[in-house]
Amino acid sequence: MASGQLSRAEALACTGCRHACHVMLYSDTKSQLFGRIPIRHIILMQMRFDGLLGFPGGFVNPSKESLEEGLTRELLEEIGVAVPILEENHVESCYGPVSSTASASSGLILHFYAKKLEEEQILDIERSAASTAIEHGHEVLGMVRVPLYQTRGEGGLSLFLSHSFIGNARLQLMDCLMRFGLISAKHLHKALSHSVETHKHTAQDLESALALIQRKQN
Ligand code: AMP
Ligand code: MN
Repeated sequence: MASGQLSRAEALACTGCRHACHVMLYSDTKSQLFGRIPIRHIILMQMRFDGLLGFPGGFVNPSKESLEEGLTRELLEEIGVAVPILEENHVESCYGPVSSTASASSGLILHFYAKKLEEEQILDIERSAASTAIEHGHEVLGMVRVPLYQTRGEGGLSLFLSHSFIGNARLQLMDCLMRFGLISAKHLHKALSHSVETHKHTAQDLESALALIQRKQN
């Protein structure tokens, strides 16, 4: 187990901790972008209320429900479908960023899951997330798909990875892409190095926007 990680049992032994569960729902697809670029896999993330990208899920209370029951309840609220999540879908548990230097008993523990679905189920989720999910427009601003391809001009995965993510969601995404063989290490490395460059340009863009608004205020 990598450092900072806990087994599911170790994590549950911390009764004073708060627990949050999130899941990566994904499927294979034969569809193509522009009729020629293979999309390969549909991976669901969401634009959260705080403007960050993250995975569906939230806080669970292990004294009242199992981690997986709690996550399924959160999914009903956030995507409108109670996708059953099982212990076998567990990927990893770790301390949340805030508590990484604090004692385990006062900390937040993050549990991460991944579940492969059929493409039709993913399409159903996308429809219900925008219609019947009670958190639509509240905690969840919309579902988004992760583009795994790279278009000309480095669009696709590298630009997606240069957005801002909640906590360790970007690492969770990259770990699952590799773990489930959804992308090659070479492709991910290339995309990520381009993201770092994009991020520098974004910072410059933001500086220019800030200068512009300051001039307008004066
Ligand atoms: P939520 O109710 O979905 O906002 O999640 C509950 C808690 O987990 C919040 O404190 C979030 O900041 C945190 N959280 C959500 N997703 C992640 C993530 N992928 N990595 C780290 N922390 C997260
Ligand atoms: Mn949530």
